[in-house]
Amino acid sequence: MLFKKSDKITGSYDVIIVGSGWAGLTAANKLARNGRKVLLLEAHNKLGGLATWFRRNNGEYIFDISLHGFPGGMKKTCRKYWSKEIADSIVPLEQVRFANPQFEISTDFTKQDYARILEVEFKIEKAKVDAFFEELDQMNFYDAPKMTNGELFNKYFPDRNDVVRFLLEPITYANGSTLEDEAITYGIVFSNFMSKGVYTFCGGTDVLIDKLQQELIENGVDIKRHSLVDEIIVKDNQVQGVKIQNQEVFSKAVLSNANLLSTINHLVGKDNFSKTYLEKAQKVRLNTSSCQVYIGIKAGETIPNLGDLLFYSESEQFSTEQLLSKEVSSQTFSFYYPKMRPDRDNYYAIVSSSNARYEDWVGLSEDEYKKRKDHLISKALTVLEKYIPNIRDKVGMIEAATPLTVERYTHHLKGSSFGTKFEGLDVSINMNKEIQGLFHSGSVGIIMSGWLGAANYGVIKSHEVESYLVKELSTD
Ligand SMILES: Cc1cc2nc3c(=O)[nH]c(=O)nc-3n(C[C@H](O)[C@H](O)[C@H](O)COP(=O)(O)OP(=O)(O)OC[C@H]3O[C@@H](n4cnc5c(N)ncnc54)[C@H](O)[C@@H]3O)c2cc1C
Repeated sequence: MLFKKSDKITGSYDVIIVGSGWAGLTAANKLARNGRKVLLLEAHNKLGGLATWFRRNNGEYIFDISLHGFPGGMKKTCRKYWSKEIADSIVPLEQVRFANPQFEISTDFTKQDYARILEVEFKIEKAKVDAFFEELDQMNFYDAPKMTNGELFNKYFPDRNDVVRFLLEPITYANGSTLEDEAITYGIVFSNFMSKGVYTFCGGTDVLIDKLQQELIENGVDIKRHSLVDEIIVKDNQVQGVKIQNQEVFSKAVLSNANLLSTINHLVGKDNFSKTYLEKAQKVRLNTSSCQVYIGIKAGETIPNLGDLLFYSESEQFSTEQLLSKEVSSQTFSFYYPKMRPDRDNYYAIVSSSNARYEDWVGLSEDEYKKRKDHLISKALTVLEKYIPNIRDKVGMIEAATPLTVERYTHHLKGSSFGTKFEGLDVSINMNKEIQGLFHSGSVGIIMSGWLGAANYGVIKSHEVESYLVKELSTD
């Protein structure tokens, strides 16, 4: 059932899930299908976490926040753990473009096309290209990291900054990977995309989340939004439930889909963890954040087909450092055409995204913050004018979001858009070894981030919660 804001939760649960991002939602559905009594608590007024949307002008404009593209594997995950209907609305993007001082290229973002471009456009010998893809195919998330992205590229394409740009830039936009990060965080995500290309959900995030919510309710999940969990209750090394707005709700297990470090430091409290575990946890680095510019096109106006994704940069050379720069010399444009939202009449929208550091945005005066946002908006329009000369006349609504916006709506520390760096994975995986019945799932280690990574990690953790409950019940 869907609780109202004013409803009081009575009764206890097999498992309480804190947060309704892709990991929390998918774990909730899987456990409910197993027949478990599940309570899903979400701080925001809608489910979805970063998979979200917003409306402006009484609904005239609607924007998707994180629906830029995900790997084709999402179709299988949705078919298996959600429904065929949801999976059937997942459709491929047709054209991904790059425009920068080093090259202008269009691709369907599949392995075949990438291999062709590497050979034909970048003149890399076939054996090298094959060996590179072969090495990526061998990577598993549970392997110890062997090298950094920089070392991986240097092994196959030394002194080819243009090739590194072609291979890494989309993934850096997708999950903040840098040259210094472990190569498996790049390799696994890139291979996932390369298997079938980039996909999206036709209909928009609002339609999708509505379908997920309906399915959860049909499967018996109790859902309460507007419910910021204050504490995960732990007694004698055993989870007891959660505290929410001065009310205690009891459960045999708790799965936190909140940020990994917030879960440890704030929701559970450091005192409940061993010294060794805490030492590891305190070394976990957060991933970076992002800025967006949301552009709604006036009713009746159109834009030409410019592809679905455009990786645009004015930087002569590729470096992950410049992608994060507040000067914004690089950005990705997502173009949303009418076919994306067939229920609307000829609706067009454009979203520009650039990677960003929280530190560059926090602590600014109101004036400075506004100036910086205006700079983002002006930069996005100036670039777009190269492709759509009269874009300014077509814009009906324009607005910018920053790392502070991400932090405000998702409670992710420092507005991290892809959770934590690689070392977060081990800490997340092992949380239940520290406190009985306490599990974590959600964006960690880059690999378990993004729509597909988080959803799949939710499934993995639901199996562990299930095994724990089976063991629990046998000793009751
Ligand atoms: C701008 C942007 C663009 C992106 N684009 C893409 C993309 O194109 N493709 C892609 O695959 N991925 C994209 N991502 C990343 C992707 O959206 C996330 O990795 C994924 O959705 C995260 O899922 P999650 O399960 O980790 O949970 P999250 O989405 O992080 O959700 C966690 C939920 O927990 C709730 N919560 C936290 N603390 C509490 C508490 N104490 N009590 C109750 N609830 C709580 C939050 O409100 C939130 O709803 C993007 C992210 C951003 C920011």
